[in-house]
Amino acid sequence: MFLIRCPYCGERDMSDFAYGGEAHIARPPDSGSMSDEQWASYVFQRSNPKGPFAERWNHQAGCRRWFNLLRNTATDDILAVYKVGEPRPDVAASLPATPSGEAPIGSGNDAAKIVLPAEADDRPA
Ligand SMILES: [Zn+2]
Repeated sequence: MFLIRCPYCGERDMSDFAYGGEAHIARPPDSGSMSDEQWASYVFQRSNPKGPFAERWNHQAGCRRWFNLLRNTATDDILAVYKVGEPRPDVAASLPATPSGEAPIGSGNDAAKIVLPAEADDRPA
């Protein structure tokens, strides 16, 4: 069971919620003057980090309210839940390690693992 804590109702099963995409995407103030490429970029281009990612969620089977959630995409750990309009919490100091020990953010290669010098000496040649 995967639990999400709605900031209005408390913890509920994930099946109560609907994913709403990346959070903190502001609509351009003058979209009428944008080129097709700029509009396409606004509509379709989203970040895809390995690590903390701010997402919008809707408690569709409960209070039906939107809120933001900060999730580590490498581990699925929920780092913070906050209401729409509140600033994104700063969790940079407490990034959790990924389960297999690769770099928390960056490599994109799940087969690659960090080998510490002490461990490298123990590996067979
Ligand atoms: Zn709710």
